[in-house]
Amino acid sequence: MNSPQPNPHRLNRRHFLRVGATGATGVALAAGLGGLTASAFAEANEIPRLPRRRYGRTGLQISALVGATDWSADVIPLAVKAGVNYWHKSQRWNKENFPAAIRSQPRESYHLEITVDRVGGDHMHGHIDEEQHYQFVKNAVARSGVGYYDVFKFHFGYHSVAEAKAEPGVVRAFERLQKEGLVKHLAISQHHYNNIGGDMAFEILNYLMDHSPFEAAQFFYTYGDRKETQDLIALAKQKDFGTIAMKTMGGVGRAASDKKFQALLAEPKFTGSTPGTAMVKWLMNNPNLTAAVIATKSFDQLLENVSAVKAATLGLNDRHALDLLAGYNKGLTCLLCSDCVTSCPEHIGIADIFRYERYALDYHELDRARAEYAALTKNGTACVACGDCLPNCSADINILAKLKQVHNLLG
Ligand code: SF4
Ligand code: SF4
Repeated sequence: MNSPQPNPHRLNRRHFLRVGATGATGVALAAGLGGLTASAFAEANEIPRLPRRRYGRTGLQISALVGATDWSADVIPLAVKAGVNYWHKSQRWNKENFPAAIRSQPRESYHLEITVDRVGGDHMHGHIDEEQHYQFVKNAVARSGVGYYDVFKFHFGYHSVAEAKAEPGVVRAFERLQKEGLVKHLAISQHHYNNIGGDMAFEILNYLMDHSPFEAAQFFYTYGDRKETQDLIALAKQKDFGTIAMKTMGGVGRAASDKKFQALLAEPKFTGSTPGTAMVKWLMNNPNLTAAVIATKSFDQLLENVSAVKAATLGLNDRHALDLLAGYNKGLTCLLCSDCVTSCPEHIGIADIFRYERYALDYHELDRARAEYAALTKNGTACVACGDCLPNCSADINILAKLKQVHNLLG
């Protein structure tokens, strides 16, 4: 009996990743694969399925990789096929641009998150306003035609535990919307606010887990992160509070385009790994973490990330790759821990400024980085070079010098 003829459009993952390793975009890849579009490729090929985990008290089973609305229209069909079912910042979609690959699925099979910002200023200067938050979500539901948002996420979060105790506007807006069936669950994306006299994210989240209707949170978390964040994730799991890691890939983008780093990575002990895939595996090896947001620019990057989640086991080569990245980041890449910020007499948002540098150097989003930097009320030029911040930086960053570099890049 003859063996079946291979489908010329059906590629295995190894083949895909081999092609993907060229770094080509999804469109270019598709062009090289017999002219298939990304969605046709997704249709024609077996794609690894992402595992799902319980998103804490929301009870939602969400994909280990969170989808984002800024992923290209070319990547999204593939992501849907890989099982991505939770979409961050989905208020950016309206009736016209809501991807067909998602809309064509039963509404209960995917979860849309709406992020709700402070009003009357940026996340440091704006305020909480129940009525305006309520209207924002109500209008988004009407404009998008999605019916409801699964998760109302208070974006950037509270400035302090004291504010979380005293200011009920976010929770009240959520409760009104929930009664009307326009939202289902309440979560928070929490930043550190020690630069304005507030609290650290883990302090605020530790409070919210026990004293509020919040069901889940998103926060900065990366390899080598502070113990308090590791502890928070473990405690959250015990308390059935969902956790999504963000800003996980510090230094990965700049290392990928650094020839010296790439030459080091060519050593045999790293074979089969890269800092990016090792980071994904490291995140997924934490059974307490629900999911991660990982900037995904292309078709091949998505496949690599999905494959890394599926591979799961963190090998010795992956550990070497993570350690190589950690060494590379020393003195170069801010970990966003915010430890330096409390000691700055000028109250400069050092970690925010260095986060914008990441947008430029790791995500290659220079316009976005410049726009965020331009919106700061106090930028790197406010530094008086006192050096008070330096002893607090475990990443050995020369903060004074870096503030100047970042200002030259983004100012
Ligand atoms: S050196 Fe600059 S950034 Fe550091 S504490 Fe002094 S003023 Fe703030
Ligand atoms: S500069 Fe250093 S101390 Fe400040 S946020 Fe970055 S890693 Fe933390």
